[in-house]
Amino acid sequence: MAEFIMELNDEQKEVRDWIHGFAAEVMRPAAAEWDEREETPWPVIQEAAKIGIYSLDFYAQQYFDPTGLGIPMAMEELFWGDAGIALSIVGTGLAAVGVLANGTEEQIGTWIPQMYGTPDDVKVAAFCSSEPDAGSDVASLRTRAVYDEAKDEWVLDGTKTWATNGGIAGVHVVVASVDPELGSKGHASFIVPPNTPGLSQGQKFQKHGIRASHTAEVVLEDVRVPGSCLLGGKEKLDERLARARERAKSGGERVKNAAMATFEASRPAVGAMAVGTARAAYEEALEYARTREQFGRPIIDNQGVAFQLADMRTSIDAARLLVWRASWMAVNGKPFTAAEGSQSKLFASETAKKVTAQAIQILGGNGFTREYPVERMHRDAAIYTIFEGTSEIQRLVIARTLSGMPIR
Ligand SMILES: Cc1cc2nc3c(=O)[nH]c(=O)nc-3n(C[C@H](O)[C@H](O)[C@H](O)COP(=O)(O)OP(=O)(O)OC[C@H]3O[C@@H](n4cnc5c(N)ncnc54)[C@H](O)[C@@H]3O)c2cc1C
Repeated sequence: MAEFIMELNDEQKEVRDWIHGFAAEVMRPAAAEWDEREETPWPVIQEAAKIGIYSLDFYAQQYFDPTGLGIPMAMEELFWGDAGIALSIVGTGLAAVGVLANGTEEQIGTWIPQMYGTPDDVKVAAFCSSEPDAGSDVASLRTRAVYDEAKDEWVLDGTKTWATNGGIAGVHVVVASVDPELGSKGHASFIVPPNTPGLSQGQKFQKHGIRASHTAEVVLEDVRVPGSCLLGGKEKLDERLARARERAKSGGERVKNAAMATFEASRPAVGAMAVGTARAAYEEALEYARTREQFGRPIIDNQGVAFQLADMRTSIDAARLLVWRASWMAVNGKPFTAAEGSQSKLFASETAKKVTAQAIQILGGNGFTREYPVERMHRDAAIYTIFEGTSEIQRLVIARTLSGMPIR
């Protein structure tokens, strides 16, 4: 097991500086435009692909970094650049993790490269779990997957919502119920290959923040996929269902479902996104407070302003440490005995919301306008306490883990 180190090594620092260069020179100048357009920034994704930041290789290198710091470092820099554009760049990675977590080696090798496409023909992928009536309560999802044994095909029907890249993706990863009686234990994940008939985009949402990232409903009507598109394979699913049915009969202990495992491992990464946005707003506020003069002196000369900046920086550093710890634990297979993944996401996302609001306050009237980026950063920060499990759900997971009680 790799030791927990709280500093990036020289190689990681080099990668960080390289991503930072892209974030500062390409993403930041494009941020306001794509926020206004509320469209996927394809040219920026393509540029990221050309230099290797939008690629399976890059993502895999960070994902398998044994220190655990690769993904949080990359996420922080990209989201420092701009949250909406960054989510367009890393949204595919969230779908890829769904395949990595549950797929066979063959499925990983077949589908993940297709999710990214090539630098000349970039593609994005989508992970579709949430539904109109199944958000926090993932177990109640209604999308059905029925096996057609004669054709060795799965037939998917249902409506997904809030899917990042939903409908514009090539590959969609869809979580569906194969046995509704088993609740979350009856769920399975499926690959829906590009251009599969029956999958269509529903409503595209107009959002408060991260507006450069596409979020939409995905409608599945009689969508037929080959048996090989069931992640993990039929044999493994049948074994899992048989065990769950046995347990249900004997009223035995609950098991964690695959989608929950995906969320737990990806939570520190979302925390790192929040740290990136928070740091960006803090840096803007610090610079502004040093240069803006009122009453004949820089506003940072007032403790009321300087202390806010001190608190902002302290919370950001604390959030980063929680994220790094959880990420190191995830990579090294340490059990989350105090829900450390959820702790990191909860603290970092609440920090981003608070710090970006403080940044607006420090910039005064300017902070409230679209002339300055902190207004956008504050709108963007609001997503972190909502997706990948709301703050309330993180508290629920932490409290249940600590107490062992079924707290509601
Ligand atoms: C921009 C965006 C992108 C997204 N991307 C994806 C994606 O790519 N794929 C995907 O599958 N999903 C995605 N989501 C969905 C996201 O994960 C859900 O929105 C989230 O899980 C919350 O579900 P909900 O919106 O239905 O809220 P609800 O579950 O209806 O919650 C509403 C409120 O009730 C609270 N609440 C609910 N239950 C409890 C409880 N037991 N105790 C205390 N409070 C509770 C919640 O905390 C929240 O404050 C995305 C959402 C957004 C907004």
